[in-house]
Amino acid sequence: MKRALFAGLVFLTAISFLSLGAPDYTIVPWPYGAVVWIGAPSQDAQTMVDYAIRAVQNVFRFWGIHPPSPAANWAHPVQTSSQAWYRGTMEQIQSPSVPITDFIGRDYSLIRGTPVPEPGSDELLILPAPSWEREKIPPLIIGAYPDRESMNAACGDYSFIGTYGPPLSFRALMLEKPTGPSASLIPILASGSDIILPRTDDWRSILDHEIAHWLTSLVCRYEGTDFGSLPPVMAEGIADYTAYSLSGAGRRWENVAAAWVQAGGKLDSVPPPLWYDVGTSVVDYLVERKGKDVLLYSLPEFAADWARQAAAITPGWRASLHNEKLTDGDRALYEATLERLDLCAWMLDPVLPPEAQALLDKLYTGKGAPSDIDAFWKLISTAPPPPSHDAWARLARREDTFRIVQYRDGDRNGERMARARVEINLRKYREGGDWQGYYHWFITGLRKVIAAWGDTKGG
Ligand SMILES: [Zn+2]
Repeated sequence: MKRALFAGLVFLTAISFLSLGAPDYTIVPWPYGAVVWIGAPSQDAQTMVDYAIRAVQNVFRFWGIHPPSPAANWAHPVQTSSQAWYRGTMEQIQSPSVPITDFIGRDYSLIRGTPVPEPGSDELLILPAPSWEREKIPPLIIGAYPDRESMNAACGDYSFIGTYGPPLSFRALMLEKPTGPSASLIPILASGSDIILPRTDDWRSILDHEIAHWLTSLVCRYEGTDFGSLPPVMAEGIADYTAYSLSGAGRRWENVAAAWVQAGGKLDSVPPPLWYDVGTSVVDYLVERKGKDVLLYSLPEFAADWARQAAAITPGWRASLHNEKLTDGDRALYEATLERLDLCAWMLDPVLPPEAQALLDKLYTGKGAPSDIDAFWKLISTAPPPPSHDAWARLARREDTFRIVQYRDGDRNGERMARARVEINLRKYREGGDWQGYYHWFITGLRKVIAAWGDTKGG
């Protein structure tokens, strides 16, 4: 009883804390929860909602399982003040007619709906829970940002192009220096089950990928395991395999995975930049050999002892890639992926020379050569003329990403030291207005922290 009361109080504190900013967003209910448009909804907002509904059907059918069922009143969620919501929750907790077992160990939002604060008011929109396999599940909230810059800036993290799940609050708690939630994150943080994406050209495949994570986490929950315990290479592999299959894209991941195998790479120690391509190839291999249902049933085993499972999968999986003939373009793509050149370029976006972008376009379409990677680094190693105040401010907002990437990768070979010097020096030269010094340390950060996996391999 005490425990339930405590949870209620914590909840109220969270809501009032979150209502402090003056956020600008629009909440649009969709059958599985809500789409939250950061800023005004774009002109083709309905296009994204329609696509998302179809994507849920397609992703679930692709894996041979029933999609979740929307709640009856999904289109007209209850609107109430946060005070009334809190009072109602307390009454329900204290009511003798409601068994306390309804609350202990269960998510309130499944019983009473998920509250999402309305912008600039004390009102809440209560999203009813959809259900799946006869159980209520948290609604899915999709946060749609106008572009990648605003999304990454709001999250204080420039390393991602889309996310699923509640990693933001986790990240804020775990980082040594939390950047603090921005007002535009309010609706996102209010839910336990979310997707965030920007309205860039590739939003459809990002959405397919993130919805596949939603499916995976529901299956994990159903089978009594935790999505967060899955080996990341498998979680990302399932998501990318789904998105590639649904879009009918080519099998470029196969060449990257083959390059990893032919370089002697192991399945239980895949570096983060290769999780997606190597993961896709493992999932493709397992689906071909055992079928989609067996793969989904195996998730608890993957979560429980990945080293053992990986050892069992390795011989056959390796053999399937060993004879793959790799071109120069494939090897260059592999190196570029390992060095995360796409992220390096995005970090430098405010001052990136167009020639460097052209090199990346070549590399990531498999038309590059290993010499293009050296050419990329050579191009960006010379500081461009001092940028505008605005461009420098955009670079400065990216500084925390060095720490975030370092943190997520784990501390290898004393790189954390390099990162610490990067942060200290970036701040020093920024505050002193020394562009040459600042740029030098920014590139050092890209090489030592972001591109670390490719860098250490080369010695
Ligand atoms: Zn993912």
